[in-house]
Amino acid sequence: MRRIASHYLIDRGTVTPRPVVTVADDGQILSVEQWERLDSLASTEFYAGAITAGFVNAHCHLELSYLKGAIERGTGFAGFARAIGQVRGGFTPDERQRAMAAADARMWSEGVQAVADIVNDDTSFALKSHSRIRYKSFAEFFGLNNDVASIAPLCRMPHTSATPHSTYSVQDEAMRQVARMAEGEPLSIHFMESPDELQLYGGEGSLAAWYERMGWQCDFLHYSSPAQRLAGSLGREQRLILVHNCCVRREDIELINSHFTHPVAWVICPQSNAYISSLRPAEALLQRDDVMICVGTDSLASNTNLSIIEELKLLHDIPLAESLCWATINGARALGLEREIGSVERGKRPGIVLIEGIETSDGLRLTPDATSRRLI
Ligand SMILES: [Zn+2]
Repeated sequence: MRRIASHYLIDRGTVTPRPVVTVADDGQILSVEQWERLDSLASTEFYAGAITAGFVNAHCHLELSYLKGAIERGTGFAGFARAIGQVRGGFTPDERQRAMAAADARMWSEGVQAVADIVNDDTSFALKSHSRIRYKSFAEFFGLNNDVASIAPLCRMPHTSATPHSTYSVQDEAMRQVARMAEGEPLSIHFMESPDELQLYGGEGSLAAWYERMGWQCDFLHYSSPAQRLAGSLGREQRLILVHNCCVRREDIELINSHFTHPVAWVICPQSNAYISSLRPAEALLQRDDVMICVGTDSLASNTNLSIIEELKLLHDIPLAESLCWATINGARALGLEREIGSVERGKRPGIVLIEGIETSDGLRLTPDATSRRLI
């Protein structure tokens, strides 16, 4: 058993000063209290800073960890897709495994408790089976001319379900088939990452030009927008994780939130957007209080780290208690793990993370040097 005290507990949107949390040897929270005087804290560990529940990384591609530094910044959306195709083959299986192991170990030590992880092959599963992080894997289907059956073997891997890649790379019937394969599990869809995704539906932009050059046809353009497509082709009960949302509009948010009965997880990956295209998650999303925002890192192909704290540093205008809510309990809800992790509550095993480098003069804010590390 350990007793952990700190200056602040930041949990579910609330800042509690002088917390002391008692944790059983198996990580279960036994009590959450407040201390009165520092000298009353016998047999208690004290940490300067703020403690919080372990993070949920709501969008990652662990298997791409070997591409760290391999693709230049600022290639733009289409350039990034091209570059990834060019560099992908140039690494040995051993290099790939070592890169994944290092990324997994670092995420754990920095406080990540669970990851929503996109997979295109089976290279990450051996590592995941030994990791202390909980991985939920999404076997991703993409390709306008591919057969959905191609992802069936991956879907049989542990804690794995099917997902379509996006609203621009999958034909109409394939989207419906993949949703059926997912059988009640959430779909994790790359959504409105660039303006090209909406422009495609009007026959414009770089995606439309690329498809035309290749002679590829899309049979879904009659939906008229990515948001209309999701509402038009997926059942209301479908659980959804929508990733990126740089170009999402007010009308898209309203349409999607009103169509689907489960709260939709709107995932933002600020560092990846800055790396690829200098875009940011849409203000239309960040300024609403009726959306469930989550935080992801994307992969090391488009990021220099898989650190949730580094993602939160880019959200300057968002109060820390709120952005931590996105990075903990909201991510847990997106993965259906909210009864076990995501908040520091009695009976849960959420992990305890220490955040150091918090400025307290004007509300709680992360300083540029802020870091996170796992205590439990
Ligand atoms: Zn992604």
